[in-house]
Amino acid sequence: MTRHTRNPQAGQSSAPLPQSDSTVSRSATASPWPARAVVREVGLRDGLQSISLVLPTQQKQQWICAAYDAGQREIEVGSFVPARLLPQLADTAELVRFAKTLPGLFVSVLVPNLIGAQRAMDEQADMMLMPLSASHAHSVANLRKTPKEAIAEVARMRAERDARGSRTRLEVGIGTAFGCTLQGRVEPDDVLALLQDALDAGADQVSLADTVGHADPASVLALFRAARDVAGNRLCCGHFHDTRGLALANVIAALQTGIERYDASLAGIGGCPHAPGASGNAATEDLVYMLQTMHIQTGIDLPRLLTLREQVAGWLAGEPLHGTLWRAGIPEHQAQAFSSSIQARASSALI
Ligand SMILES: [Zn+2]
Repeated sequence: MTRHTRNPQAGQSSAPLPQSDSTVSRSATASPWPARAVVREVGLRDGLQSISLVLPTQQKQQWICAAYDAGQREIEVGSFVPARLLPQLADTAELVRFAKTLPGLFVSVLVPNLIGAQRAMDEQADMMLMPLSASHAHSVANLRKTPKEAIAEVARMRAERDARGSRTRLEVGIGTAFGCTLQGRVEPDDVLALLQDALDAGADQVSLADTVGHADPASVLALFRAARDVAGNRLCCGHFHDTRGLALANVIAALQTGIERYDASLAGIGGCPHAPGASGNAATEDLVYMLQTMHIQTGIDLPRLLTLREQVAGWLAGEPLHGTLWRAGIPEHQAQAFSSSIQARASSALI
């Protein structure tokens, strides 16, 4: 096979490869992709909140530990919502305390209001994420607040954070940014105005979320580009649900606008109450596989992540799981590249 002549060890006198050959070093051409990306695990929050089974705290701690050992350095461990609304996430305070013991782990929680933010700051979470809906109808149904009222809550959170001298970062995630099951179309201008309002109200950073899987790569490219014009580097994350199978394609589009941080849930757990059978976020393991095959380092050891997936799948027996890599496995010739000290070293650079 001609492939042998391309092996550097086959002989130093080999002729240079033609530029069109796909095995040419990537450094020879300008890459449109970033060198690194952060995959933030949200399965423990976005995933578990839509599964009725309540996972014991000890299993969640095992999950956090194993994800950490696999190289994940950002994990959303839960949500400070009343336990009567989401008993699945009632142990969030305990999980924050536990996760904070892992050196270098960036621990985030979702907070729907000031009371939740106070709890996040009490526990010294590294980040609190306030979800805001660009869709008026979804905002009222989900947060019981209009988008304007939710912005006022962001301002109260920021004032409280400043008064306490807390170091907990405040991110505002604009949900239903690409459409809404209740309202239908969401105008990009409304999303951009809300982004600006969130920054004006004191958010440290903002992100865009396709909550119900209405986005496509073209709309992602357009909206993220426009949002970068508004927020610059403070637009820091993409959150794509795989409701209609486009989550990874949407990541590719957002990568082209310079976004280097993505939410994902292990085994694609989660869903949407308005789309029965729909998956949650992009499956963590599939996203990591895609990024690393594209030479975008995530610092994550994929074989370890697949082992964790198997374990979590056992705990969630009977619940719908998603993703495709676990079925096909990692191609043999790539296996070593996905599990090496190079990945471990890369992780420390991502914190
Ligand atoms: Zn979500």
